[in-house]
Amino acid sequence: MTASVGVDVGGTKTAAALVDPGGKVWHRREVPTPARSGPEAVLDAAARLAADLLGGAGTGPVGVGTAGTVDPATGSIRYATDSLPGWAGTPVADALATRLGRPVRVTNDVTAAALGECWAGAGRDRRHVLLVAVGTGLGGAVVRNGRVAAGARGAAGEVGHLPAPGAELLRCGCGRYGHLEAIASGTGLAAAYAVETGTHVTGRAVAERAAAGDAVARQVLDRAGGVLGAALAGLVALLDPDAVLVAGGAASALLPAASVAYSAELPAGWADVPLLPATLGADAVVVGAARLAMDAPT
Ligand SMILES: [Zn+2]
Repeated sequence: MTASVGVDVGGTKTAAALVDPGGKVWHRREVPTPARSGPEAVLDAAARLAADLLGGAGTGPVGVGTAGTVDPATGSIRYATDSLPGWAGTPVADALATRLGRPVRVTNDVTAAALGECWAGAGRDRRHVLLVAVGTGLGGAVVRNGRVAAGARGAAGEVGHLPAPGAELLRCGCGRYGHLEAIASGTGLAAAYAVETGTHVTGRAVAERAAAGDAVARQVLDRAGGVLGAALAGLVALLDPDAVLVAGGAASALLPAASVAYSAELPAGWADVPLLPATLGADAVVVGAARLAMDAPT
């Protein structure tokens, strides 16, 4: 295997990295995603980053983890939220392959994070893993027998749309009410804090206020973490994983309360299944996307 390039296309930023066959990141580049300029501009930005990294690396393959649901057969976007306007329907794999002159494999960004963590992070050497990513929203991916379970439409593991107690008045990113993402995500923290206080701040700010001693922020964070932990414990009984990993920018804020609820709710037969923080941080998606490229049939 040669080094490959992994690309992470998010609603806010696009990152790319050259990753060696051992999972080590050698060079990393990042630019703001020109989401408001439309899909062609987003593809151009991603291609430029990848081309820069490929310059000195011969003909390495390219993998992409992107926001949205990806058709596993074609590498096109089936569904995307308005964080990337017009992204649904974009043939990402074909469009980037044309720009870069080489095959490109594409998957969902949380799926890529799971691939990355199971290769070079907290899921290393584990065959069965549930990974959830808590950032602005809440996503998830299921790894079974060392492979990501795609499901019928490439969307298995989307834990954000499970019904969640306490979220009844909160609107989910999918448009319905009462889902786990509506409470256990950056958006959910912000919404719950606004309901309690009438003050509109970001989810990150809620976590900062909790750390600084704001009792309402602490209560919002504890409730969100508790609901997340209980849901994950239930999913352990469904999936029987070796470990549950929590990734994403809000992971560290939610993990303390989540761990307490998780341990309390976990059925006795699974008491040894750990709930762990992911360890690759902001590199998880680029590392997993690079791994996807390396695994491509030649
Ligand atoms: Zn939902």
